[in-house]
Amino acid sequence: MAHCPKCRVIELEEFDSEKGIKLDQCPECGGRWFDMGELEKSSAHPEKVAQAKIDGPLRPRETDRNCPRCDRAMLNAGFISEFLRADLCQDGHGLWLDKHELHLVDKLLAE
Ligand SMILES: [Zn+2]
Ligand SMILES: [Zn+2]
Repeated sequence: MAHCPKCRVIELEEFDSEKGIKLDQCPECGGRWFDMGELEKSSAHPEKVAQAKIDGPLRPRETDRNCPRCDRAMLNAGFISEFLRADLCQDGHGLWLDKHELHLVDKLLAE
C-alpha cells in the first residue's frame, strides 16, 4: 500500500476527484498524490505535462519525503513553471501536493 509522504504511517486512500482523475489522498493531512499518467490524461494541455517530464524538476531542493510508489526520496521542485512547486518523484511517478497547495491543481491542469 502507498503511504503518505508527509505522515508516513498513514495509508493513502484512492478516490475519483472532481476533475475525473484517480487520486490518492491522505485521510490525515489532506495532501494528494497525482500519478504522472493521470495528470497527463486530465490536463487541458497534455503536451505541457509531457514537456515538463522531459525538462525534469526545476530548481530542485532535497526533501525528507519519499515517493509513495517507489519509496525514493522526492525533490521539492518546480513543475511546468518554477512557481508551481511540488514534491516530485525523481523517477517520474508523479507528484505530491500538500493540502494548502491544492489550488495549484487548476494551474497544473489548465495552463
Ligand atoms: Zn498525510
Ligand atoms: Zn517514484
